[in-house]
Amino acid sequence: MLLKDLIRFLEAVAPPSYQESYDNAGLIVGQRDMEVSGIITCLDSTEAVIDEAIAKGCNVVVAHHPIVFKGLKRLNGSNYVERVVIKAIQHNIAIYAIHTNLDNVYNNGVNAKIAERLGLEGTRILAPKKEMLKLVTYVPQEHLPALRTAIVAAGAVPTHLQDRESFATSGQTTEGVEQYRLELLVPSALKGKVQSALTQNHPSSAPLVEWSGIHATDPMIGSGMIGHLAKAMDEVEFLGFLKAKMEVGCIKHTALFDKPIKKVAVCGGAGGFLLRAAIAKGADVFITSDYKYHEFFDADGRIIIADIGHYESEQYTIDLLYELISEKFINFAVHRTEVITNPVHYF
Ligand SMILES: [Zn+2]
Repeated sequence: MLLKDLIRFLEAVAPPSYQESYDNAGLIVGQRDMEVSGIITCLDSTEAVIDEAIAKGCNVVVAHHPIVFKGLKRLNGSNYVERVVIKAIQHNIAIYAIHTNLDNVYNNGVNAKIAERLGLEGTRILAPKKEMLKLVTYVPQEHLPALRTAIVAAGAVPTHLQDRESFATSGQTTEGVEQYRLELLVPSALKGKVQSALTQNHPSSAPLVEWSGIHATDPMIGSGMIGHLAKAMDEVEFLGFLKAKMEVGCIKHTALFDKPIKKVAVCGGAGGFLLRAAIAKGADVFITSDYKYHEFFDADGRIIIADIGHYESEQYTIDLLYELISEKFINFAVHRTEVITNPVHYF
């Protein structure tokens, strides 16, 4: 198997265009046409994980967090990021990060995994994304695959997430040539990039292109998740349940109200920006991480904020990636890291 086959699969699970603007998900180290010897899934591609990959004969590390976030100006090993990149290159190991794009998908995403751990029912994306545009164009069949590949590479995604291959349908005929209708969604930020990929790869010098805004939000893409427990629990019982299910040593939380917990909002990682959405949607508790002292006041008697720790909230993403990859590529060496990369220790 080539790395690009794995990447194609991962990008179908979580299209790179769903990542947030500040993110750096994707292939960070490595070349797409290298042969894959084995894969390790992890949250953080630390040096210890690269060592583990070397020891296990794996040359691909699939991480949730991108090890390189901002640009590197030098590569001399003066910090852990540079040392990881140097070691990975020296040992011909690829690092692929699947980050906020995996946070933002309803199916098989970070938050779906948390919801599954907590047995939440009736789950929905907490804050669906709005800024998608619909792109429709027409192309003769022989040019379809190349055009589709080019515009998907530029960030367009199929409109029907469940049915990725069928987003081109045989449609109208112009000048005796049957034209295929290609319909995709494009994050508004990528409109220019997709438009130029389309212009460069379309056989016609003046292709018919229709752009339209999507009025409804896409319920399958966005941040956080909300659902309900099968049976309401009292608050202390719920905190105990949360601690056990998420394997958390300690929970930082705001005042309890002596009210049953039924509706639960979650966001793996730093989800504080979703507090308003969690309150607006009537969640009794909001489970996330990376809360600062003053931010806890924002609960303001309307919700319980439960900060379970960043690593703890996302640790099952390691299993999620492992399960997705090993189910797709059966008989292939896939491992979940045995290194606990959490930089935070509790005493
Ligand atoms: Zn995270």
